[in-house]
This record gives sequence, structure tokens and C-alpha cells, in this order.
Amino acid sequence: MLEATQEDVKALVEGLNFKEKVERSLSLIERAYKVYADTLVVANSLGKDSVAVWHLAKRVSPRIRGFIVTTRFKPPETKQFMTEEVARYPELKVYSNDVEIPERLYETDPNRCCDILKVEPTRRAIEEMKVKCWVTGLRCTEGRTRVEFQEIEQRDEGLLKLNPILIWYEREVWEYLALHKVDVNPLYKQGYRSLGCGPCTKISTGVDERAGRWVGTSKVGGECGIHTRPLKLVEGAGI
Ligand code: SF4
Repeated sequence: MLEATQEDVKALVEGLNFKEKVERSLSLIERAYKVYADTLVVANSLGKDSVAVWHLAKRVSPRIRGFIVTTRFKPPETKQFMTEEVARYPELKVYSNDVEIPERLYETDPNRCCDILKVEPTRRAIEEMKVKCWVTGLRCTEGRTRVEFQEIEQRDEGLLKLNPILIWYEREVWEYLALHKVDVNPLYKQGYRSLGCGPCTKISTGVDERAGRWVGTSKVGGECGIHTRPLKLVEGAGI
């Protein structure tokens, strides 16, 4: 059994060096994998943090499965990178929601758009893959909306959430990826720091890593909802 943590996350971010953080991340995944085995699944958004977590998980066990949630609005570079990743790792399952939605919903109601195109397929992935522990690449230094998270969380009944690189700095992610020669989404070469759907992602220059997300809406620098909304619903509740 793994219990939700209540750590002083800021102290860990500042107090541990890169090697200690990598060891801590591996140990978190190892401990969780011992408990959850094949019901531990990595959510891979194809961003730098996800591919780092995916690489860490594969070091723990090549058997570990993953899922990708994609949308019709992902940039061509991300779609191409996804095709390459799935060819390399067939144990990555792709989910999307192809339901019709109002035109430019991402402008008129981005929360609703993310609910339909991102949260719903994530819930479906968790349900269909019978996930009991999902592993994410969330980091508390990414921006204002990510400071309150913990490494091990119990947000939904029967679903543990593991954030094994929560305390890594952005530069430590790049350090890890460079050291292990991990392929990344080519959009980073263009200057993006946080990747999402095309209409909702700009190249930003500020301190906040997620400042380029949903620019011009009330959701700027915010969340799509997979880290904040319930992922297991009572029957008939809808999205
Ligand atoms: S990021 Fe934008 S386009 Fe993608 S699901 Fe959310 S609102 Fe829609």
C-alpha cells in the first residue's frame, strides 16, 4: 500500500541535487510498481516531462504500459512524434475523442473544450486499461497552478496518482534527457517550453514555463483539467 504524501515540496526542490532527485524518482516508481504491477500506467503527453517519466518507468520495468491522449488540434509535429513513439513502444495506447464540437470552442469555452477532448479520453483510458495507479510528468516548478501538488496523491477513490518528477527543475529534465539521449518533440527546437494543442499554445518568454498556454483567455497559464478534475465518475454524471 502506498500512502498519499504531505511533504515540504519546496524544501525538496531546493534541497536535493540532480542525482538525488533521479534516485528518488526511480524509487517512487519502483515502490509503486511493486504494489500495483500492471495496473500502474504512465500518462504520456509527449512533452519533455512525460518522455522523462516514460524513460524512468522503462528503467524500472520494460513491461510498464502507457497511454497518450491526443486531440484533433495537436500540431503536426506532435502528431508525427506520437507516431514515432507508438512505433517504438507499442505498449503506448492512444486515446482521443472525435465527437463533434462547436467551431472554435477553444476560444469560446476552452474549459469545456478541454473537458471533452482531454479529460473524457483520460477517464476512458483509466477505465479501459484498468488503471489503479497513474504516473504523470507533473512538476511543481512549472507555474502558479502546480505548486500545491504532492508526489503521491489520492484524488479519486481507487486511483492513486504518482508524480515522480514533481520536484525537478526544468533544467534538470533537460539534463536527464540529454544524458540518456532521449528523443523529444521537435517543437522544443522552435522555442516552446510547454506543449499543448496548436490554437492554445504560444512561445512564451516569461519566467513561468506554462505562460504560453491559453494566452488571451481566462485560462492563461492554467490547466486542461486532467490534474484537477475527478477522473473516476459515478455512473451517469457525464463530463
Ligand atoms: S488545449 Fe485548446 S484545443 Fe486543446 S482541448 Fe484544450 S481548449 Fe481545446
